[in-house]
Order: sequence, then C-alpha cells, then structure tokens
Amino acid sequence: MRWFDGHCDVLYRMWKEPNKHQFYHEECELDVSYHKLMAGKVDIQVFAVFIPPKVAVRNRREVALKQIDLFYQNILAKSNKMKLIKGSFITDRNDKRIGAMLALEGADALEGDLLNLRIFYYLGVRQIGLTWNYANEVADGIEEMRGAGLTEFGKRLLREMNKLGMVADISHLSVQSFWDVLAMPQVEIVASHSNSFTVCPHKRNLTDEQIKAIISRKGLIGLTFYPPFVAMKKQHVMISDLLRHIDHVCALGGGDHLVFGSDFDGIDQKINLLENASQLLHLKEVLCKYYEKSLVEKWAYTNANQFYSRVLAKL
Ligand SMILES: [Zn+2]
Repeated sequence: MRWFDGHCDVLYRMWKEPNKHQFYHEECELDVSYHKLMAGKVDIQVFAVFIPPKVAVRNRREVALKQIDLFYQNILAKSNKMKLIKGSFITDRNDKRIGAMLALEGADALEGDLLNLRIFYYLGVRQIGLTWNYANEVADGIEEMRGAGLTEFGKRLLREMNKLGMVADISHLSVQSFWDVLAMPQVEIVASHSNSFTVCPHKRNLTDEQIKAIISRKGLIGLTFYPPFVAMKKQHVMISDLLRHIDHVCALGGGDHLVFGSDFDGIDQKINLLENASQLLHLKEVLCKYYEKSLVEKWAYTNANQFYSRVLAKL
C-alpha cells in the first residue's frame, strides 16, 4: 500500500541539533530518517521548514534557507534514494525513490515580499503554512489573542501562490484567518496536520464547519498524531483514538479528502506504537482491520495524489 505523509519537522530538528543526525544512518535518532521511511513503506514525505518564534524577525529568511540547504545537502544530494516532488507525484511503480516535497510552516521567511515567495518557489517549495501559532506579515495564528485575519499582503501572497500553483496550508491559522482564506475562491487549501474539534476540543483542531468548508473546496484534511490533538486528558493515547477522527471526518463527507500528516520530529509526545515513521506499519494494520482496503488506500495515498497532481500541474 502506498503512503503519503503530509507533515514532518525533520529539517527543523536537523537545523536545531546541527551535526547530530545523519538522515541515512541506520542508527539515526530522527523520527523520520531514510531507513524509517523505508521500514514504514512511505512513498511521499512532505518536509516542512519551521522557524521557531524565538528567532529574530530579521533572521527568519536565513534560517529557512539553512533548512532548505540541509534538505539539499544532507537528504537529496547524499544519494539517489530521494526525489524532489515539484510537479506531479511519482506514478512509475518501478521508481523506488521516496518522493520529498518542500513546504514552509509559517510564511515569516518571506519577510512580506513576493520576490521571496518566488525564490522559495524556485528552490522547490510548493506549499506554505501561512502562520505558525502567532501573527506574521500574512495573518494571525491560533494563539494570537486579538484573533485577526489575513493582511493585505496575505491576500496578495495567496493570489501569487495561486498563479504559481502552490498550496495554502491552513493548520495553525486563527479562526478569522481561516475564513478569510476560504473567502478567496481560487486558493488551493490543505490542513496538513489538524484533527476534529468535535472529537477532541483543542483549538488547533478543526470545527465541523471548517472541515465541511475544506471538503467543499476539494482540499485535504491531514489527521495528525500529536496526542493532545487526538484525545483530551488521556495518558496513553492509542491508534484507536485516531480512528474516531477518521470516522467523524468521513461522517461529514470527507472520505475523499482525508490524508495523514504525522508531525513527526515536531512533537515530544507520541501515540503508543506510532512513534516514528517505521511504526506507520502499525497504523496500516489497524486501519486495514477496521476499514475496507479501498478506503484505506484513498486516505493513505490516492486522495493526496489526486489533489497534488491537480494543483502542482497547474503551471
Ligand atoms: Zn505544526
């Protein structure tokens, strides 16, 4: 079964702990390493560039460029085992390389300048999480007390992203920012790592109205493995807890829009037996036990393939 993972922070971790991690070493401690991706049978991995809020505003672009350099130097250039996905997904089953997509988690690195957007596009970035939890030049994030929405620059950015064939990731956005993005009809939308608020009332999760809005826009909802977003006030969160989110999104009509975004290497708590990319095998086993294989295949890969093939091939 093919597998797409829509979000991990391994580039951030490699930047934060320089020279500590060798992506291709078998003993590597990262949640997402080459061997763990192979063991978990992952076909496509989205690599996010995350800039922690403590980095000064003037240094954010540089930090993003450093993480992209790590991606090229330590992941792509070290072997011919990974392939950068810029256009369509890998469709040739004989191509054994793992696909890698680049995304920004927070548009802070753009410094409010569309020139920077285009440069990141030229470097291979195809998806932008508009904010992390706080405000930036584009919009407010979910932890921002004032809860404002998209800025004028944010609107210009989304129009330019649309021209280029880029995807807007709404995970982490404030409620107002979310609806401001949805009000722009042409924007291609994913929530790369967010769960259902009805199932687990955490503010990082999506309400039923938000989930339905993403569905009606033919976007993607990437269910994520961070225990506080999966089950509230539970000490040992299990894979079975994640199934409740799947059932709920499907009950809202989202079966063709559901994917997974692990958030591996960006989280310090884990679901039991779902602690790194190799353990995706456990998730696959549980999914195949409870659901028809044709459904699991959609959530695992086909939904993502259809969405990204349509959007990325726009240009
Ligand atoms: Zn995140």
